[in-house]
Amino acid sequence: MSGGELHPESLAVSLGRGPRRAGAPVNAPVVLSAIFHAGGDVEYGRVGNPTVDALEEAIGGLEGGECAVFASGMAASAAVLGDLPPGSIVVAPTVAYFEVRAMLSEQAEQGRLEVRWVDVTDTAATLAACDGLSLLWVESPANPLMGIADLAVLAEGAHRAGGLMVVDNTFATPLLQRPLDLGADLAVHSATKYISGHSDVLLGAVCGRDPATVAAIRYRRELYGAVAGPVEVFLALRGLRTLAVRLERAQSNAMELARRLSEHPAVERVRYPGLPGDPGHELAARQMRGFGGMMAFEVRGGAEAADRVARSVELITFATSLGGVESLIERRARWPGETAAPPNLLRFSVGIEHVEDLWRDLDRALRA
Ligand SMILES: *Cc1c(COP(=O)(O)O)cnc(C)c1O
Repeated sequence: MSGGELHPESLAVSLGRGPRRAGAPVNAPVVLSAIFHAGGDVEYGRVGNPTVDALEEAIGGLEGGECAVFASGMAASAAVLGDLPPGSIVVAPTVAYFEVRAMLSEQAEQGRLEVRWVDVTDTAATLAACDGLSLLWVESPANPLMGIADLAVLAEGAHRAGGLMVVDNTFATPLLQRPLDLGADLAVHSATKYISGHSDVLLGAVCGRDPATVAAIRYRRELYGAVAGPVEVFLALRGLRTLAVRLERAQSNAMELARRLSEHPAVERVRYPGLPGDPGHELAARQMRGFGGMMAFEVRGGAEAADRVARSVELITFATSLGGVESLIERRARWPGETAAPPNLLRFSVGIEHVEDLWRDLDRALRA
């Protein structure tokens, strides 16, 4: 469009729709074909698919790079790590999505990668661990403690040491944080979460500016068969159209609920970067366009009290995952791999319901 760059809210609606030819569909069609007539760019569905191309155009446009869409966030993460030569040094976060940490641990135990674990919210400690690295893996805001890492400074440090930086941008989405603009080489997503937004599909994505790097990661997808199905991709594209308004409501709800929870007698601590007293607040305010819809809080009375809250809510759903229109709550430490979570910590994915209904539900459950 003439007259300058579109805002991300408009890009989320307009990207990935194909040419405006008379009679052409306005929405990307679901192309259910495993094979394509010989002689074109793509002949087989594990290599490419027009519906997938549309979602890649949309997510890539929002992140400001090229995009490869995967069958899940874990498939996307596996492709990034799988592209590293054996013996590579990876600096990885002690606090991050637990199955990404499990995958790194396994590759370290198998001797495929050397992993140095650091608290990536501690910038100096992270930079000190970067010597000789191939890859710095960062999640910010991070599961489940909502830690914020200084993406620009860490990217510079990783590059100085001769490596790349990857940011898991699932919690923020490209609408609230653009890691590639901050210097990261790759942004990884579980598109299962906010991008799709309705807890009905599993999908992942990797975005980057260097075409050769993204091509190598796309080739991993082809080798691993980690391709997304066109129907799931269509649903993600449909979900993406409303990402801006969903996020706007979720984060305004989250801000209000975080304020109220931090004054609640049954709550020990609230972790939300939007709160002025939060350790990540200033950094998040600098590098993000908003604080998002994810938070965590610790319930007085330990794991049992926290479990009681998760089982007592009626509007909010006791379930794992995040980023859907519906509010979800769970005690993170119930997962054996989630070693970073205090036993009484509830992770709360704030949805788009009315804030007063959410508060009534939470307050009643906390008093139960
Ligand atoms: C859910 C999640 C993943 C894994 O993604 P899947 O789509 O479940 O495979 C990775 N990182 C973060 C931050 C997540 O929340």
